[in-house]
Amino acid sequence: MKKITDNVYVESEISVCNSSCVVTKEGVVVIDTPMVPANAKKLAAEVSKFGKIRYVINTEPHGDHISGNCYFGGTLITHDGTRDAILASRVEDIKGMLQMTSPGATLDKDFRFRPPDITFSERLTFYLGDHSFHLINMPGHSPHQVAVYIPEERTIFTSDNISRALPFFRQALPDKWLKTLKELQKFDVDYVVPGHGDVGDKSCISEMNTVVTTWINTVKEAVAKGMTLKDVQQKVTMLKQFPDLPRDERTAGVVSMNVTRLYEVLKK
Ligand SMILES: [Zn+2]
Repeated sequence: MKKITDNVYVESEISVCNSSCVVTKEGVVVIDTPMVPANAKKLAAEVSKFGKIRYVINTEPHGDHISGNCYFGGTLITHDGTRDAILASRVEDIKGMLQMTSPGATLDKDFRFRPPDITFSERLTFYLGDHSFHLINMPGHSPHQVAVYIPEERTIFTSDNISRALPFFRQALPDKWLKTLKELQKFDVDYVVPGHGDVGDKSCISEMNTVVTTWINTVKEAVAKGMTLKDVQQKVTMLKQFPDLPRDERTAGVVSMNVTRLYEVLKK
């Protein structure tokens, strides 16, 4: 894990999303768990060296953030909507995700979808040692996104509302996402831990704003031109807007999923 502040560590290599931990005087808080079981076990062991795992937080409902939960102890906290998603999760889906992101990785006999012990809808604050953990529902990438703000470390964990990889819009609420990015600017922090990719400072909030705005405006223009959904899926590749996008089948699949969602929401 990479040390970010005196007490914050982030793992970006072995997780599909970022998995982090905050070390307090009274134990450890984990934020998001690795999807590959072997990596989840490895991280749980690594984190336990800092102290007892007291709490685990899932910042969103998607498989890459929640699937390693069963390998971690402590009290699990999520948004209400993430609990519903975990309860509705199917082993087939996680197997499909593993195949896509981590070929060769398998589930083991200990695997199960672990639902949270505590949920909330808007805000939840808890205190541990000298730290306070402010969990705030900030819809965008999904309706159930949660940011975790830790003023004592001048750090905010934004979940996939900031992603420094290809963003996913499958469950996105485009208008709310832009509003959330504006809200994120208001936090007095030095470190922004995104859902995917390297930790940055507040400049990654405006970078993400540019990315999300570009996706929305591109599909808005297509809708205004009267393009059908099928046209949009075939013609809007986003390669002009983002020339660095990998030209592979998986990326094309995500782009198609993103423009489909945006088309459906913006058409209304
Ligand atoms: Zn996600």
